[in-house]
Amino acid sequence: MTVDITLTVLGCGSSSGSPVVGCDCATCVSRNPKNCRSRCSAYVQIGEQGWLIDTGTDFRWQALREQLPRIDGVLYTHPHADHLNGIDDLRAFCYRQKGAIAIYGNKHTIANIQQRFDYAFFPVGHHWNRPVLQAHVVETSDQYPVFHINQVPIWHFAVPHGRWTCSAFRIGNLAWFTDLNDISDEVVACLAGVDYLFLDCLMERAYTSHLCREQAFAFAERIAAKHTYFIHMTHALEYESLLAQCPPNAAPAYDGLQVRSRYCIPAAA
Ligand SMILES: [Zn+2]
Ligand SMILES: [Zn+2]
Ligand SMILES: [Zn+2]
Repeated sequence: MTVDITLTVLGCGSSSGSPVVGCDCATCVSRNPKNCRSRCSAYVQIGEQGWLIDTGTDFRWQALREQLPRIDGVLYTHPHADHLNGIDDLRAFCYRQKGAIAIYGNKHTIANIQQRFDYAFFPVGHHWNRPVLQAHVVETSDQYPVFHINQVPIWHFAVPHGRWTCSAFRIGNLAWFTDLNDISDEVVACLAGVDYLFLDCLMERAYTSHLCREQAFAFAERIAAKHTYFIHMTHALEYESLLAQCPPNAAPAYDGLQVRSRYCIPAAA
């Protein structure tokens, strides 16, 4: 049996997005729509289910742009504002689906969300005047997937993001690795055979809590996914000039980019 997995890049920008308000650099004034990057997030269709990775600041208009049909759950990478603050707009999907939406993250992420958005964790009421969410803490993968969605295995990795530990996910043969400044050898080994890797690539200059261009290129070559797309890019990385420098089988992502992967469910032993 196979399950089709489609990932749509909702946003591939850094916390400021691009164009940056008030900036007139080459990226920010570019007419190439691929230089217009909203805050970093993805929508992953796994069979008939729809899952988000993060609810960034731009989530509402990303959902409108991609006409997202439904949301069964959200995988949170970490609670920085650019990955979380669109959370209120899950309300529209709770209302449409007449039910709660499951959210998943590490212990710190879930505690932070429950503290900042406590009003979203009440039982379903009559008015739908706020999102209704159910929180789940996910254990970290030690080589093995931690849970399944539609029989597709989900790996949850702990990656360093400055002083925080951020979550990265492998969903079948797709991997989303944003907001990190290193990937351990063990986690690199768990990415063997991925079709699509989406990888943090903040800017040219080294930065404490993200991969810079050179580091991102090096990990792309080491992990050697069939295709690597760079995400979480600032306006310092202009699309065409970054594309011209990319290693083989790698390219900058752009908002609206969609990839498909077919996951074969192994027959039961
Ligand atoms: Zn971020
Ligand atoms: Zn700029
Ligand atoms: Zn972050």
